[in-house]
Amino acid sequence: MLKFLKVLFILIFHGFMIILLSLTSQVGGIIWFVVFFTWLVVRYKTPFVLKLVSFLGIYLLAVMTIVPSLARKFGKVPMPSSMSGNLVPHNALYPILNRNYVTPQTLKILLKTADEVAIANPELKMVYLDASFPFSKEMPLPPHISHSNGRKVDLCFAYKKNGKLTNKGSSILGYGHFVEPKDGEYNQVEQCLANGHTLYDASKYAGFGKRRDYEFDPYHTRLIIEKLLENKETNRIYIEEHLKQRMGIVSEKVRSTGCWAVRHDDHIHFQI
Ligand SMILES: [Zn+2]
Repeated sequence: MLKFLKVLFILIFHGFMIILLSLTSQVGGIIWFVVFFTWLVVRYKTPFVLKLVSFLGIYLLAVMTIVPSLARKFGKVPMPSSMSGNLVPHNALYPILNRNYVTPQTLKILLKTADEVAIANPELKMVYLDASFPFSKEMPLPPHISHSNGRKVDLCFAYKKNGKLTNKGSSILGYGHFVEPKDGEYNQVEQCLANGHTLYDASKYAGFGKRRDYEFDPYHTRLIIEKLLENKETNRIYIEEHLKQRMGIVSEKVRSTGCWAVRHDDHIHFQI
């Protein structure tokens, strides 16, 4: 009986890990399965830590070599993972978890826009969050419903700390630290929540590790949005209405999503 329970526990644990890694990185689940199944066949008594280390090594190797070359067959390329360019990840997790894949056209537009932003202000970078997974144009990138085809990318607002641009989002994941409507500003968030769209501010759960000393920088956020709008391919930019008004943006392409999505006063959603 005890042995049966032990086997059951191991099966549930591996099942959980495979689902979790598939949802966060697309390929992590399958790599986990292959590595641990191989250990089971070859030498099942190997200590778990060693198996885990081998998984991490093989996973990282795959992310750096096999995944980018296979992704090309699906029409996807990774955004830069280096922190030194003008288009940078909010943190290393985004490239490590394969959440930085876009179409070659999207990448070209983003790189060009980031360079133009840097020409306007050499201290300002374009910082990306979630884009899409490398394989498949249909599989959404959880928890985003619409991020699948590689033409949609989330970007950080510009923030200042002690008067200097930070080039980082304002929480650990870059989501969930809202720039709330001020008194007298249009409050879409309140309306959506009052109308029963309880998921509208669900991204608050991603807002752990808030950097409260970061100050939203409307001037430079507007600069990023204006440079994005200069591309004729730009189709939509989602931000909350109160921020659009506060920054004095008039373009029809910049709008709030409506209550069916999540609030966008913590990041910019860009799509071509
Ligand atoms: Zn988005």
